[in-house]
Amino acid sequence: MRRSLHGAELPQHGLISLRMSLIHRPDNDYNPNAISVSMPADIGQTPEDRHLGYLYDHHLRKLGMTALASLAELSGGEIRCTGFYQGGNLELALPHPKRLAAAIDAFLPDRKPHDRIHTSKSPQTTDALSRLNSFESPRSQVRQIRLALGTSRRGETRSISLADVDTGRSLGQIADTYVLLNDERDRDNVLNLLAATEVPVAQSITQPAIALHPEWPVAAIPNIWTYRLLDALAFRARNVEKPYSHETMAIYNPETKKLWVEDSRLVGPCLCYASRVGIEISAVGLPRKPWHLEDEIPFYELKSNRRRNQLDEAASVDDSDAEWTLLKSVRRLIPPDLYAPGLVRWSATPYPRLTEPSVDIHERYVTERQTLFGNHSVARSVGRCRLCGELGLAFSTPACVDALCYCQGCLIRATRGAAEDRQRAAAALGLIGRLEFDQSPMLESQLDHLHINPAEPVSGEFIDTLLLLRFAIRRNLFP
Ligand SMILES: [Zn+2]
Repeated sequence: MRRSLHGAELPQHGLISLRMSLIHRPDNDYNPNAISVSMPADIGQTPEDRHLGYLYDHHLRKLGMTALASLAELSGGEIRCTGFYQGGNLELALPHPKRLAAAIDAFLPDRKPHDRIHTSKSPQTTDALSRLNSFESPRSQVRQIRLALGTSRRGETRSISLADVDTGRSLGQIADTYVLLNDERDRDNVLNLLAATEVPVAQSITQPAIALHPEWPVAAIPNIWTYRLLDALAFRARNVEKPYSHETMAIYNPETKKLWVEDSRLVGPCLCYASRVGIEISAVGLPRKPWHLEDEIPFYELKSNRRRNQLDEAASVDDSDAEWTLLKSVRRLIPPDLYAPGLVRWSATPYPRLTEPSVDIHERYVTERQTLFGNHSVARSVGRCRLCGELGLAFSTPACVDALCYCQGCLIRATRGAAEDRQRAAAALGLIGRLEFDQSPMLESQLDHLHINPAEPVSGEFIDTLLLLRFAIRRNLFP
């Protein structure tokens, strides 16, 4: 029978079990929460002598950066554990990170995150409080509102941007039905104007599950705005001096509905703000030390892992390196070498990537359709894009005898151009000149909208061709 060095029966052939220590090494220059994997204390040397290597930061982050350091502190500086040695590799026998993180959190004192009170007056908190308690400039009453559907850089999420028609001032956006305003004072005004549209928006919660603080009722107006992450909402105090400051004082995980706040003194205004926006909060979490959420709490607690995975999955449906997918059926409408090799994946089976609810309502605010086609009437029904198969709104225009339907992605590609190859752009421009402009000289800006005489309406395929050609001409690129 084989036994390990300290007598235990070996679980597998050739596996040697070892006693090990995990030592917190605050003296590490690179990371003050560094954890050294070491030989056990009873061999009687200093931590430096016993040191074998450090745990990777990404392992620490899975537990909450400071979790093992805090646990080591409680157990006299080091944590005993078991290692396995086999064929030149040393592995630690630790529970699954999620289970270990939960066990450490349950073991540490002061472990109820929502009960924590930060008594030290953090200057960063004092500064954030003073900013969210004051509004600098006066602003004008909004009389008319402009809505435009926007899409995130990689196309994972969409939101409707809001602007004041009179002044052009950007008011904020509607994302996942939340009205996220740049200036919270505009809320009543903007909600009233939005009520006249069909866009579904979340309403303020007057009786939230977690009671509001008496000094921060739902009618109070904190100067807070939201930075929308793909997998979380980040609450920020408006910073006039540093408008692009990334300082986030609270982070909302839409999956767990838990609001993580950096300091107990900020909970009141953050709960008030969440109620105003209509964000449902099921629990509040606080770090042990103010402004240490990212260090102490595992990232999958702060943000929605599920949402991140869904978006990654949607992005990877197209496993080729191609930048866009188009339908095989429209390939014959354009010259075979109009796009550089590898730029387009020609697919026989269209799939919609959009999964958002109210896609039919959102699509009405696609401004690129108006730019390209001018007067047109949209249908109520969602259809498939004629070029790529993505969801879009069907519409008709006097310039075309067929019903049309293009997704926002294709409309954006047509209005801005997507390919940068100069020679191919010139070829596309030549074809557009012949088909659309009767060979007369044209300016790049004339590509913004389609030039078709409504007295001589064309076929849907003709429009398809004009759009596909526009894809090849990236605007504002060539002199
Ligand atoms: Zn499309």
